[in-house]
Amino acid sequence: MSATKIIHSIPSDPLTGAISVPVYQTSTFIQEAPGVNKGFDYARSNNPTRKVLEDVVAELEGGHSGFAFSTGLAAIDAVLKLLSAGDEIIAVDDIYGGAYRLFTHVYEKLGVKVHYVDTTDAENVANLISSKTKLVWIESPTNPTLKVSDIQTIGIIAKSVGAYLVVDNTFASPIAQKPLSLGADIIIHSGTKYIGGHSDLVAGLVVTKTQELSEKVKFIQNASGAVLGPWDCFLTIRGIETLELRYKKQCENAFAVAAFLINHHAVQDVYFPGLVTHKNHSIAKRQQNGLFGGIVSFSLKEDTQEAANNFVTHTSYFKLAESLGGVKSLLCHPPQMTHASIPREKRLRSGIKDSLIRLSCGIEHSQDLINDLNQAFASINKSRNYVKP
Ligand SMILES: *Cc1c(COP(=O)(O)O)cnc(C)c1O
Repeated sequence: MSATKIIHSIPSDPLTGAISVPVYQTSTFIQEAPGVNKGFDYARSNNPTRKVLEDVVAELEGGHSGFAFSTGLAAIDAVLKLLSAGDEIIAVDDIYGGAYRLFTHVYEKLGVKVHYVDTTDAENVANLISSKTKLVWIESPTNPTLKVSDIQTIGIIAKSVGAYLVVDNTFASPIAQKPLSLGADIIIHSGTKYIGGHSDLVAGLVVTKTQELSEKVKFIQNASGAVLGPWDCFLTIRGIETLELRYKKQCENAFAVAAFLINHHAVQDVYFPGLVTHKNHSIAKRQQNGLFGGIVSFSLKEDTQEAANNFVTHTSYFKLAESLGGVKSLLCHPPQMTHASIPREKRLRSGIKDSLIRLSCGIEHSQDLINDLNQAFASINKSRNYVKP
């Protein structure tokens, strides 16, 4: 979907002609007679501002319906409520930490079994799938090492037992990747990241492929009630207007940053699906529309938390913070921040080295970002009297 279509799929207000979407800050709607209304009765069930966002997101992803939730995790939670005790999930092994916590500490307790596998090899999914599998859950690319899984192949495997394929499309965004067209049934987004895009809100989105799934998710959304408020719906819509522009610039910056990092003498490994050396580059290229995202991770030759700590406290444009996808560049040290709750052994097994640093490129000028990283390398060298070999 092009920027033209995205922008013009956002309707102006039919009542007043307001070109931007009004914020309907209301809890209830007056009825002409009991049950006779203008399509809205109570704001948990539906709200006109939220409806615009939900319709736009469904269109962005090419789905049947969209649903807006209070956070990305609330969106994930709503999808998990499709399950019953005894059902099983096959999930990507380096799943988002918050999803892992929800699966393990909430849903396993309720009788849902989760198997974690490396989904970059679709065989691993095929070997585990059974009639008990109700959801196959992948992220592609993953956080923070940007592993890419073959959505189309995994979709065929899921279908063979009637399971739904869920894709967390947060990192690729609808600009780079259209999972429904590749065989996914449900998409979730942390709207907090690229879709919102300005680090000023938390939001979650679900997009369903079929009417049957839409009805089920709609029921859960209303029954559980973790909806997104109208003001945050407005901000998310406003974010979507510039999504393509921002995402493409972020991809361009990430490319420039990755190219700089692979040549830097203090850097050990660079993780970026746009590099031909990335082990899932060919599938990423095929599946992601030639766009590889705005996230670049790297490890240092001096593979210690201390060295990473030094680096992440010496950048100026890259702000040290969790989250990603906003217009301002951010960086984080996953072993001490986003992935601190995972035991070190398990972290190392999934490729998260002690010195791993994750960059989320914003929309600044790429040379400014490179200069910033360069001076951070220089200042760690200086702070420990480092002599270039
Ligand atoms: C941030 C994130 C989430 C959770 O979203 P919140 O809005 O923080 O609840 C889920 N999946 C991925 C890939 C994320 O990056």
